[in-house]
Amino acid sequence: MSTNPTIIRTKASDNVGIVTSELGLSTGTVIVDGAVLLQDIPMGHKVALSEIKENAAVIRYGETIGYATSSIRAGEWVQESKISLPLPPDIDSIALPDGKRQKPQPLEGYDFQGYRNPDGSVGTKNVLGITTSVQCVAGLTQYAAKRIKRDLLPKYRNVDDVVALNHTYGCGVAINAPTAIIPIRTIQNITLNPNFGGELMVIGLGCEKLRPDWLTPDNDTSNILYMQDEAFHGFSEMIDGVLLMAELHLKKLNQRKRETCAASELVVGMQCGGSDSFVGLTANPAAGFAADLIVRAGGSVMFSEVTEVRDAVHLLVPRTINAEVGRALLDQMKWYDDYLRQGQADRSANPSPGNKRGGLSNVVEKALGSIVKSGTSPIVDVLGPGEKIRRKGLTFLATPASDFVCGTLQLSAGMNLHVFMTGRGTPYGLPMVPVIKVGSNSKLSNRWFDLIDLDAGPIATGEKTTEEVGWELFHLILDVASGKKQVACDKLGLHNDLVLFNPGPLT
Ligand code: CA
Repeated sequence: MSTNPTIIRTKASDNVGIVTSELGLSTGTVIVDGAVLLQDIPMGHKVALSEIKENAAVIRYGETIGYATSSIRAGEWVQESKISLPLPPDIDSIALPDGKRQKPQPLEGYDFQGYRNPDGSVGTKNVLGITTSVQCVAGLTQYAAKRIKRDLLPKYRNVDDVVALNHTYGCGVAINAPTAIIPIRTIQNITLNPNFGGELMVIGLGCEKLRPDWLTPDNDTSNILYMQDEAFHGFSEMIDGVLLMAELHLKKLNQRKRETCAASELVVGMQCGGSDSFVGLTANPAAGFAADLIVRAGGSVMFSEVTEVRDAVHLLVPRTINAEVGRALLDQMKWYDDYLRQGQADRSANPSPGNKRGGLSNVVEKALGSIVKSGTSPIVDVLGPGEKIRRKGLTFLATPASDFVCGTLQLSAGMNLHVFMTGRGTPYGLPMVPVIKVGSNSKLSNRWFDLIDLDAGPIATGEKTTEEVGWELFHLILDVASGKKQVACDKLGLHNDLVLFNPGPLT
């Protein structure tokens, strides 16, 4: 990566550079290769480093992000309107890998203080999760969670939190539609998240389509409470019932103690949202470096967001460990192409207006910057939405790019820690797992000093290297997983709702 104080070019073949100055650059500024700015260009936006003729490729990250709709002069602002969207990589013509992937070099000696569970998984928090089988009960579970926190939690000092796992599914849905498997297994697997310590309680209404006993893996009905149960006279009896059940679980959770666990027990979900063009230059490369460290330490990393991977999938298939995993990755892309087509949308629905204001012109440019957070490790497995993680190493979990939907699905896959990169800024957080937020530029990180956990901005200015920030993130991950450091969104209590991915019809 070549950097001068004002412009970043990722690869020597790039014919556009990114303006890094916080105030943007003014007309007349001399930049790389002697090009002179022909107009004012804001931070994060692209400048042509040489002349780009009409229909010629616009190149960033060494890849074609589109074609010039008209001739662009050196020093011109390369805005979205000047780039036509190229076709996505043709899934059927991408060669599957030959299976000769080098094993990552082991990294030893790193551990954290986690909660070991009977099923072998490791938690980073100690949380009582209250599972629900239908949205109808959300009012009751929210009320109950408040009461449990007020009346019971002070007695159980080792328990961090009580969280009602409310969602919009359960009734009024075509529960027999083939795609219903996605929301159903998502809810089932969320309750198995390592941070809940295997202590399961389900609150149902009674008449819903999603049967509460589907949510208890061992069919133990003693952990299910129905509001419509005729034993209850009035709301206060229902609450008493929930509190009674909660206390049994709190007693068990309170016995959990942190112990030394190898870094190989980390299951980290990587995501970005509210992206700008710096995310692909600073925060995602640092996250990718940290992802490689976790994989080298024997841990698990997930990356997701199909629409932000689709246009770079030709770069990912060669990284899969065998033809079967490569095929699974392509199948997930195909499934999503069809899903978008059915909704009469296409991949141009991403990026968002904010992404564009941050300098991201189109989904190709976004995808090339997005996949960087996967690091360089081999991709050992591909999961469909709602599936649970099966292997150590780097896994692709197919999810929508929508922040809260992706987060919900990574949670159900079993992540015990979330790393979230942002450039425009989002307060995103989850109460079930710690969410470390990495800012892609110092302008944001400084302004949002109490919302961002780590600033990757110094990579853009050359003050720090990607490796330095990557190591900082790795150490922060271990500290947060150990409960030694609290993330910004937990300090402030900023937490998003669970949002299920339900591609099926409502009734
Ligand atoms: Ca996202």
